[in-house]
Amino acid sequence: MSVRLKSVSKEYRNIKALDNVNLEISKGEFFVILGPSGSGKTTLLRVIAGLEEITQGNVFIDDDEVTKLPPSRRKVAMVFQNYALYPHKSVLENLLMPVEGEMKRDEASKLAKHLSTLLGIQEYLTSYPSELSGGQQQRVALARALMKNPKVFLMDEPLSNLDAIQRVSARKLIKDIQRQNQITTIYVTHDQVEAMALADRVAIMNKGKIVQLGTPEEIYSKV
Ligand code: ADP
Ligand code: ADP
Repeated sequence: MSVRLKSVSKEYRNIKALDNVNLEISKGEFFVILGPSGSGKTTLLRVIAGLEEITQGNVFIDDDEVTKLPPSRRKVAMVFQNYALYPHKSVLENLLMPVEGEMKRDEASKLAKHLSTLLGIQEYLTSYPSELSGGQQQRVALARALMKNPKVFLMDEPLSNLDAIQRVSARKLIKDIQRQNQITTIYVTHDQVEAMALADRVAIMNKGKIVQLGTPEEIYSKV
């Protein structure tokens, strides 16, 4: 197993954003989280990434307890809705940032070029984010997240700013890279079609709890 939450709760003052969540996600699994706004999806990702301290419970990655570890020590990459590229840095510089000081620069450049080719953004390495379309920026954000060779990939509505056609091709790309590298992926979306297309398993959240869990077929046969 690759990611495990044991009785995890997260409270903000009097709001229970996560209410005693138990969850096991296998290595290489594509796990999708659906649920209404405010149900705790983003909090769940942030807890796994180490961006939120939890009120109760334990978090494990690859059988190691990481509950108290900072994000930098979790081998987890996260892609958000707003891709948050650095506007004053070129695409290449954006890609190199996450591995600065950890990888030799020429090695890092080689990897950046490889990932850019894979994602079809190799022509834009010297461009600045503002010169790219939303879809291209999204690809840069994906490439940047992959630079660290993450064991766990967390995505929060990463395709929300793409049009329908771009979304279909980006979806395929994410799925291909995820499969090839056996990256355990946890993916938040509002889009049921996207969930069906991507998921090995789907969890539906409501009010800080997982209220349904199963393969897409199991989930949708009950709707
Ligand atoms: P979702 O991603 O499903 O929309 P969130 O995880 O963002 O849900 O939020 C879950 C609940 O926790 C909501 O009630 C939200 O208002 C609350 N919440 C999230 N972050 C904070 C915060 N930093 N401070 C206070 N309340 C928060
Ligand atoms: P989502 O798209 O998941 O619904 P939100 O817009 O709810 O995201 O939240 C965006 C950011 O604001 C998150 O980092 C979340 O932690 C924070 N946040 C959400 N609700 C609150 C709140 N009630 N008070 C403070 N911060 C919040």
